[in-house]
Amino acid sequence: MKKIGILGGTFNPPHIGHLWIAEEVRIRKQLDEIWFIPTSTPPHKETEVLDAAHRLEMLRLAIQDNPHFQVNALELEREGKSYTYDTVKELTMNYAEVDFSFIIGGDMVAYLPKWNRIDELMNMIHFIGVSRPGYRLETPYSVECLEIHPLDISSTFIRTRLEEGEKVRYLLPDDVMNYIKENRIYGYRESQS
Ligand code: ATP
Ligand code: MG
Repeated sequence: MKKIGILGGTFNPPHIGHLWIAEEVRIRKQLDEIWFIPTSTPPHKETEVLDAAHRLEMLRLAIQDNPHFQVNALELEREGKSYTYDTVKELTMNYAEVDFSFIIGGDMVAYLPKWNRIDELMNMIHFIGVSRPGYRLETPYSVECLEIHPLDISSTFIRTRLEEGEKVRYLLPDDVMNYIKENRIYGYRESQS
């Protein structure tokens, strides 16, 4: 059976923290592939999120040099809010021959009690929780916790730096950095290059 790890996220923008946890989990859990699934309207985000088309393109650029990484846009193709429950249901129905795991960072592990239909979801897919600075990998839910070397990087940190005119090089892949530059997103200014 093919083993695939899912990493859902806003990817606003994608950064090396995402790539780092994906590759660590893939190797340590001997997964065949990681599917990155960008959310359309994240249910738990109140702040405005960048256009899905930009996030999708940045994600494609971020993963392009890893043959085990793929982007799956099913949540963007669906109308309305993205709930992991619906995504996992769709994936397990469409790919009955695949053994899926759902990868989440420590902040999401802490947030699990608030997820839509979490008890049903727990019975539908295996969860793998990974370390994230500032969060403890503890939960009453059945999550396989993997201690990975923590990288204290978030999209929020990158957006804030860009808005403040600071450099973000090396926090995300060069191609993503160049995309932000070319499209003048997140308040990017020429002086930052
Ligand atoms: P934001 O600051 O906008 O919330 P983010 O950096 O948390 O962005 P998301 O797209 O929200 O990125 O995260 C997608 C998934 O990746 C989540 O499960 C999150 O916990 C995980 N993740 C992101 N960055 C890290 C990191 N540095 N270490 C561990 N997990 C991470
Ligand atoms: Mg987040």
